[in-house]
Amino acid sequence: METSSKTHRTALITGSTSGIGLAISHALAADGFNIVLNGRRPEADQEPLRQELADKHGVTVSYLPADMSDPKQIERLMANAIKKSSGIDVLVNNAGIQFVAPLEEFPTEKWDAILAIILSAAFHTTRAVLPHMRQQQWGRIINISSAHGLRASPDKAAYVSAKHGLVGLTKTVALETAEAGITCNAICPGYVLTPLVEKQIPDTARAHHMSEEDVVRDVMLSEMATKRFVKTEEIGGLAAFLCSDEAASLTGAALSVDGGWTAR
Ligand code: NAD
Repeated sequence: METSSKTHRTALITGSTSGIGLAISHALAADGFNIVLNGRRPEADQEPLRQELADKHGVTVSYLPADMSDPKQIERLMANAIKKSSGIDVLVNNAGIQFVAPLEEFPTEKWDAILAIILSAAFHTTRAVLPHMRQQQWGRIINISSAHGLRASPDKAAYVSAKHGLVGLTKTVALETAEAGITCNAICPGYVLTPLVEKQIPDTARAHHMSEEDVVRDVMLSEMATKRFVKTEEIGGLAAFLCSDEAASLTGAALSVDGGWTAR
């Protein structure tokens, strides 16, 4: 059986130039994983971020641009990442977008984009990493779902559907890979104050004719027993644990990090 040396393991995190993806990249780099960052912007734009991560943690960091809504670009991304690193050992499907509108007004192109980036992208990336993970009998796949992968909210049809779908994909991949030393889990965060949520505040305020302060208190934090946003580092810490050897039996789970939201 071929095994991978921990110090040479590489993690690819999609949508990792901000928010939760960037925090996970820092957490895994701190544990010695080499990192492949991804985003939509050209390589030159992300060079300072790439350098900062590499300098801070002393690991190899590369950045590969790809639009995760486009299967052809995903195919190129995965081929390049696998070639550069001789295989991806940890895959974090994190890229995501949000759009808030009642179903009758929900633009079809937003539905298509959200399903493509959150759900279909994870299918394409997972297919690409499995042969190497199976060969070395070790792999970790982490899908960033959401509390909205377990609960619904009005006006988020595409996001709720995609995130529920991602939990289903997680369970299926976990079952198909369980005997190959590979785990696949979903992390389901409650609200985290990242660019994605910052943009949602005015959108929700407009949709419900509310002030932005009321959206934060009465919509976002109302279901969270802790009454505070989850910190990105808290998601990073869980991702790092899932990538440890101690988490080898933890697979097929949808792990809530939601301040008690889904305990209700
Ligand atoms: P964010 O906006 O900081 O991160 C999303 C990332 O995805 C960005 O870096 C963005 O550039 C990237 N992205 C978007 N579309 C892309 C595309 N077509 N191709 C490549 N990259 C693309 O917000 P975040 O909150 O850090 O979101 C990260 C993940 O966490 C998302 O999947 C989101 O749904 C999920 N999530 C967030 C929260 C929250 O409250 N912030 C809660 C639950 C789940």
